[in-house]
Amino acid sequence: MEESEIKDRKIPCKTCQKDFVWTASEQRYYQKKGFKKQPQKCSDCREKANKLRNENMFYIHCGICDKNAVMIAPPPKDRVAICSDCYEKFVKEFQENKAKQEPSTNSV
Ligand SMILES: [Zn+2]
Ligand SMILES: [Zn+2]
Repeated sequence: MEESEIKDRKIPCKTCQKDFVWTASEQRYYQKKGFKKQPQKCSDCREKANKLRNENMFYIHCGICDKNAVMIAPPPKDRVAICSDCYEKFVKEFQENKAKQEPSTNSV
């Protein structure tokens, strides 16, 4: 392996279009890990993307099963937040109840 060949490189960021430096040590790290691709985003944009991902996660406490869950949408303010498992169950039960309550047209 010719390590002396590795130099800092400038790569345009896919997100902000600015050139950023892909350092020799990072390149060696990529080589060691066997990564074929070079980084697509500068560290700024990578950080931003990570932050955005975290901001889009909402940690809720399910009011039905009492478990902690993660939602990708903000929990409703006007009612108890429930996890997706309980939500599915709730929808199923709701539909079953509705089917039961539907007046039967045959009995009239
Ligand atoms: Zn960038
Ligand atoms: Zn739940």
